[in-house]
Order: sequence, then structure tokens, then C-alpha cells
Amino acid sequence: MHITDIIGESKPTISFEFFPPKTEQSSQALFQCIKELEELKPSFVSITYGAGGSTRELTHELVLRIKDSTSLTPVPHLTCVNHTEEEIFSILEKYAKYEISNVLALRGDPPTGDAPHDRSLDAFQYASHLVGYIQKFKESGQCKDPRGFGIGVAGFPEGHPETPNRILEMDHLKQKIDSGADYICTQLFFDNHDFYDFQERCQLSGINVPIIAGIMPVTSAKGLLRMAELAAGARIPGKLLKAIDRCNGDTESIKRVGIQYATEQCSDLLNNSIDGIHFYTLNRSDATKGIFQSLGLHR
Ligand code: FAD
Repeated sequence: MHITDIIGESKPTISFEFFPPKTEQSSQALFQCIKELEELKPSFVSITYGAGGSTRELTHELVLRIKDSTSLTPVPHLTCVNHTEEEIFSILEKYAKYEISNVLALRGDPPTGDAPHDRSLDAFQYASHLVGYIQKFKESGQCKDPRGFGIGVAGFPEGHPETPNRILEMDHLKQKIDSGADYICTQLFFDNHDFYDFQERCQLSGINVPIIAGIMPVTSAKGLLRMAELAAGARIPGKLLKAIDRCNGDTESIKRVGIQYATEQCSDLLNNSIDGIHFYTLNRSDATKGIFQSLGLHR
């Protein structure tokens, strides 16, 4: 189902993000998690895309397995980094063939390694170029839906670190929408004011597509550190850090604090009629299920 129809039918959308597992054991754990989260009837689930060859295959495999063996709508992430035009074309062909209707189009970050990444070898320099290409793919007539793929793009409520000029950054975001994106999914954030401010700046920039809020419940101190490393631009408020500090390293307490914090964030977002909430699940079901229960969400 095209994302425009999904959002039109089930506002606010609730969606979950998974990353492709690397071992048989973690794959089994992920499918157990997916089974539990499937009961919550998400609007769609999205699957991240890595920077290197073998992990990329794992994304394609996971997307098709979810499509074949569950009732869920998988939305694969696709990045510009390390891809030629031919490669992107053949990935889109494959997704069209298997009736995958939507894609989240990203630039991606260069792979970490010794050799610096030569961006001039990438066919598409920015996500907006990839969005335009995915839009054009509909002319190939391979998508079942005449609108072609539904396309999502990333948004950064607290700004993307590479563009300190926030006004310019909104122009770049607008380019992605003008190139054909249907919705924005945001980077995780811990202060809803940042999200509401981002919504207002989008409106002022003439960006009128739905904006889905990215939420990540903190479930461990280690996870929080990792998140701070990975989530470009995201600030961790002192209020949350203090609450975690009070747990004195007790794992269960940290998890409860993280779930409680994310629940309050979601409750406030829902009261403010947002378009959707996207949970960064880290391939675990417990925190997301806990939030659903506390919010009394039934779908
Ligand atoms: P772009 O929109 O291309 O922007 C990148 C930077 O370039 C920004 O600073 C922007 O302002 C600037 N820019 C854009 N256009 C221009 C222009 N014309 N001229 C000059 N500057 C310009 N990464 C992965 O590798 N795999 C994933 O699966 C993945 N999933 C993600 C999901 C979400 C919801 C989010 C928020 C991020 C995800 N990322 C993922 C991370 C993302 O790829 C990085 O944060 C990346 O640095 C930015 O991607 P983008 O698509 O926003 O890039």
C-alpha cells in the first residue's frame, strides 16, 4: 500500500524500525520481536540499510522475508553512499517486482574505515537526487501503483551537523520534498519542543507533507551512549540524564525510567495531533510494548 494511503487511513501512524541481524541467533530473536510487535498492528515497519556490501544484502533479505511471512508492510531504507545508478535501478526493480510499495531515501553516512570515502564515486550526492531518481523510476512502468514508490526522507529537528545554517538546511529539506518525497521521518529527539519547532519551520518553508516523529526509548546506559554516538544532532536533556543518574546503574530502573520518559513524550505528541510516531526499536519489543500499554493504545 502506498504510504500516502497508509497515512491517510491511519493518522497517527505508528511504525517500528528494525535493523538486519547478522547471525542466525539474532535473526531468530528479531523474528520473535517482530511477532510480538505485529500484534500491535503498526502502520508499517522500516528496515535500515548499511554502508557495506554484505549488510546491504541482509536488508533486502529481511524486507522480503517480512513481506512474505508477516502481515506487516516493510519500508526499506536506501542510501546514496557507495552506489552506482545501475545498482540503485536494479534494487528498485527488485522491490517493484516483489510489490514493495515504499522506500525511505537517504544519503547515508560514509562507511567507517581506514580509507576515506570518495563521494564523487556515488551516483547521487544528496538524498534529494535519490528521491528524484526514485520518482522517475515510475516511468519504467514496473511499479504496480501508477504513483510509483511512496517516498520518505529524513528530517532533523535539532539540525543536521553538516549544515549549521538552519535556514539553508530547511532549503535542502524542501528540495527533497520538491523532488517527490511524500513524508518526513525525523531523527530521534528527547525534547518535544524541538519537534514542534521543526514542524513550524517546515510550515514556514512551504513543506506540507506529513512529519512522523522518531522516538527511541532509552533502555540501558550503554544504549544511551551508543545512541549519542549514532544519532546525528540529538541532544540528551539534563532532566533525562539526571533521572538515569538516580538509578545508580541499576539496569531495571534505567529501563523503567527510559520507558516512562518516552511514554510521556508520546502522550504529549498524541495530544498535539501529530501525523505519526516511529519507534526506533533496536530489534527489541519490550520497551515499545510497555509504551503502548501505558498509553492505552489499541489499533
Ligand atoms: P541529505 O538530505 O542528503 O543531507 C545531508 C547533508 O547535506 C545535510 O546537512 C544537508 O543539509 C546537506 N545538503 C543536502 N542537500 C544539499 C545541497 N544541495 N548542497 C549542500 N548541502 C546539502 N543512515 C544509513 O546509512 N542507513 C539508514 O538506514 C539510515 N536510516 C535513517 C533513518 C532516519 C529516519 C534518519 C533520520 C536517518 C537515517 N540514517 C541512515 C542517517 C542518515 O543517512 C544520515 O544522518 C545522513 O548524514 C543524512 O542523510 P539525509 O538523507 O538527511 O541526507
